[in-house]
Amino acid sequence: MKNPKLHKFKSVVCEKQVLWLKFLDQLRYWQKSWIELKCNCRGARLNSCKYSRRTNVNQNFQKKIEKHLPVTAAKGSKDLDNASLSAEIKKLLIKKNAVIIAHYYTDPAIQQLAEETGGFIGDSLEMARFGAENPARTLIVAGVRFMGETAKILCPQKTVLMPDLKAECSLDLGCEPAEFKKFIAANPGRTVVVYANTSAEVKAMADWVVTSSIAVDLIKHLTARGEKIIWAPDRYLGDYIARQSGGDVLLWDACCIVHAEFDAVKISNLKKRHPQAQVLVHPESKADVIALADVVGSTSQLLKAAQQSNAKEFIVATETGIFYKMQQACPGKKFIAAATEPFGGKVDCAANCPWMKMNNLENLLAAIKTGNNEIKLADEVIKKAMVPLTRMLEFRKKN
Ligand code: SF4
Repeated sequence: MKNPKLHKFKSVVCEKQVLWLKFLDQLRYWQKSWIELKCNCRGARLNSCKYSRRTNVNQNFQKKIEKHLPVTAAKGSKDLDNASLSAEIKKLLIKKNAVIIAHYYTDPAIQQLAEETGGFIGDSLEMARFGAENPARTLIVAGVRFMGETAKILCPQKTVLMPDLKAECSLDLGCEPAEFKKFIAANPGRTVVVYANTSAEVKAMADWVVTSSIAVDLIKHLTARGEKIIWAPDRYLGDYIARQSGGDVLLWDACCIVHAEFDAVKISNLKKRHPQAQVLVHPESKADVIALADVVGSTSQLLKAAQQSNAKEFIVATETGIFYKMQQACPGKKFIAAATEPFGGKVDCAANCPWMKMNNLENLLAAIKTGNNEIKLADEVIKKAMVPLTRMLEFRKKN
């Protein structure tokens, strides 16, 4: 039998709960409006870009990315016997005249080994430069596939190995060469600038290749020369550089699924709990996240900003692999991972790139031992892609 008192009590609790949820909703709405206002003040649009009507809408982007996500998480180096693996790799590096070039987003154990063996840790521009200048005959590129390809284009005479050739990037996957070729043909007369996070075939179609550290400077330079631009593939970075440069930039529509997950409302809340913290944001993030930043820049630029700042706390909106270097470079400072919201409501990276994390000491050792996972590219592609890549390196030297 129903207890009327209990029933009444339950309905009062329910009513209060509904009111409380409505109140929270209203709070979230006010907070979003405030961020939007801040975005508008800085010339940015919330979650979109003012050029969006002119982007090539890639409807299947999300489906394609979901298909390529690693099925199981790669074994982190912490699960492996690091000391013996590192010792074996060290011997083989000497024997095979090889060097490790690691990205900031890879496992700290790989970054540490690169440091200890005269290798290198950096962002994609610095990795490319180091690979081209280092005398080693074999380059072990710990990162994602386009980084290995870039190393091969710049050093075709060297052997380039990767721990796992299936380590992709959502930007590279989201810009298929055949589709991109049609896009260029449909928009003649524009200078084609592509981000380093693209396949060798896409680079071979470009006039320029850039990394996030020089993208704004280059687009400003081309705009001053009266050139109109096609930008691919990252629509958020493209929107950012278009706003910064004031250039006429036609955007391709793909994004980094890791940086696209940073959530402005959640970061705002985090900032309230850490009011003294500086917010460091990578420009592959959405415009509303960028609007909250104290510093916007490439991974290397964010690292430098953390070193030079007087702040003691930082909220960092980029892949969490960078924390290894940040903590090493700034021992007394605190780094807090910026909050995320699953991409498209489904893919949840939590600021960890699923492909970067496919690199570990075990598969790195296997690559150097067996010589498997070699990057191979057609001579014709190397020849064509070398032109915009060399332009990028020259532009970097002068600016
Ligand atoms: S973090 Fe983003 S841009 Fe970098 S490799 Fe992963 S998916 Fe690509």
